[in-house]
Amino acid sequence: MQVTDVSLNNGTTIPQLGLGVYKALNGDETRAVTHALHVGYRHIDTAAIYHNEEGVGRGIRQAGVARDQVYLTSKIWNEDIRHGRTTEALDESLKRLATDYLDLALLHWPVDGRLVAWQDLISAYDAGKVRSIGVSNFTAEHIEELIDATGVVPALNQIEFHPYLTQPSISETCRQHRIAVEAWSPLMQGKFLKESLFRELSEDYRRTQAQIILRWDIQRGVITIPKSITPERIEENFHIFDFTLNEEDMSRIDALERNLRFGPDPENFDF
Ligand code: NAD
Repeated sequence: MQVTDVSLNNGTTIPQLGLGVYKALNGDETRAVTHALHVGYRHIDTAAIYHNEEGVGRGIRQAGVARDQVYLTSKIWNEDIRHGRTTEALDESLKRLATDYLDLALLHWPVDGRLVAWQDLISAYDAGKVRSIGVSNFTAEHIEELIDATGVVPALNQIEFHPYLTQPSISETCRQHRIAVEAWSPLMQGKFLKESLFRELSEDYRRTQAQIILRWDIQRGVITIPKSITPERIEENFHIFDFTLNEEDMSRIDALERNLRFGPDPENFDF
């Protein structure tokens, strides 16, 4: 199974499918990462606030896959951004992950202090501690603000994205600046099973509903990081590169858009 790569605006590439590990703790993260790498995943998405970076690093080492074969993302947490601790926070993440570089570092949420934090990520990029830098949960306005202030365009914006929430305004801004869009909660946190269209397409294509949704991400050019700690689901979510949804069915999934969030709203959050 060949996972497609997406080219980023700084000349690097990112595997279009990765494993998310939010809320995977107490060894589950290590087992999930090891299993995913054995299945063929080469991209892991963690964050300082997930409190599992040590276990993720352990999982990579236990899998026996060379560090340079794994695309590793982590994120700078809000308190560190607010307190001007981005450089320190990045160093702490590297230490917990037991690696000397990240493939991608993201500012987790657009909190106060984000411009200084972005400058600090630019410095870390120049120093070779991180191969690409980007943002998460940034609106079109936040993105324009960063670019106006520094001239440095984020490589990627990780946002909540799934058939019920496609965020057209942010997606259009990203397209204009050649910023890749990465989907968090691509499986609506598992709450997709009530949608009759997915049941129907699942029967038509002889694929699971999760595979249909993830395949829709791939064909829309979105990077996707479904989370699972269940070995069978980790495998299932990986097997999405050997079938194609036709354009009519892609459009039927597009039409499910209803601006419905399962996570916090970047315009109105309090953490
Ligand atoms: P998700 O949409 O990936 O859903 C995960 C849940 O879906 C699982 O816990 C499981 O219950 C279910 N599931 C997974 N595979 C399935 C399958 N094949 N069949 C049926 N059910 C299945 O939700 P998520 O964890 O919120 O998002 C994915 C990743 O995105 C996270 O782990 C994290 O890495 C990232 N994330 C980032 C942010 C951010 O602010 N940047 C926020 C949330 C999540």
